[in-house]
Amino acid sequence: MAIIEVDSLVKRYGGQAVVNGVSFAVEPGEIFGILGPNGAGKTTTVECVEGLRKPDGGAIRVCGLDPQRDDGELRQVLGGQLQESELPDKLKVGEALQLYSSFYRDPADWRELAEILTLDGKLGTQFRRLSGGQKQRLSIALALLGNPKVAVLDELTTGLDPQARRDVWALVERIRARGVTILLVTHFMEEAERLCDRMAIIDAGQVVAVDSPAGLVSRIDDRQRIRFRVPGPLDDAVLTGLPEVAAVERAGSQLVVTGTGNLLLAVTAALARHQLTVADLRVDQTTLDDAFVALTGRSIES
Ligand code: ADP
Repeated sequence: MAIIEVDSLVKRYGGQAVVNGVSFAVEPGEIFGILGPNGAGKTTTVECVEGLRKPDGGAIRVCGLDPQRDDGELRQVLGGQLQESELPDKLKVGEALQLYSSFYRDPADWRELAEILTLDGKLGTQFRRLSGGQKQRLSIALALLGNPKVAVLDELTTGLDPQARRDVWALVERIRARGVTILLVTHFMEEAERLCDRMAIIDAGQVVAVDSPAGLVSRIDDRQRIRFRVPGPLDDAVLTGLPEVAAVERAGSQLVVTGTGNLLLAVTAALARHQLTVADLRVDQTTLDDAFVALTGRSIES
């Protein structure tokens, strides 16, 4: 059974639907991504799931609870990151962890969480003195303090340097290993590809696709493309005669062959039969970025 169910969610501002019929279901133990460009309606969607915004239409269930009606119960099973502005500058890390633990019936061991999030050396440090990465780790710790079944993490690596970003990714995987289901909002393709089991691609308030990263890539294109050079003359018919080959193009001294099935094996075997050696061979992979462009008609970064 799904742990989060969103069915035909609608949210309007000033008469305009910024979330317009969004549906998806998250299974227990998944890292489920909400991926889309800025302004697509991702935060609005997850804030409805968290009970922070009131939907104008549709239904939401989190562990069987209605986020609007069962708000008190929801707080005990769902952990969300706090906005930076919600923490007083002078509050120390250890104080924040203790204070927020007191809000829960069955809190996690905050010292252990601080250790996992490598904040144990910072317990006496004021919030305002933390680096960006440390603030992010603290906000994740606070989201996990209540031992939630579901954690909602929204753009958690925005503004972090590449190393800090990778550290946070490793952390998210460790949280999932503890059995927490994660709803992850991101506009970073690489983050979605690296972390998510499945994701909903949202564009202009609507779900364009729900699938695994590999599923999204394979649904747009099962064609492959290989590029190489051959050091002598080659009759294109050697390749165009193969059932796997759809097209052969030349780009300078380079050959670009597109096709399906086991294209690489078919092409290299045919060339070997003609005593032709292959140089600078490259296989072009379809990326999640390509899938996004095919599904939405534009790149996520634009
Ligand atoms: P995302 O998280 O995908 O960047 P948001 O959910 O934050 O998108 O926003 C979706 C759209 O709704 C944007 O056009 C944004 O300007 C608008 N929006 C969000 N919150 C409000 C609000 N409180 N009042 C009016 N418009 C809003």
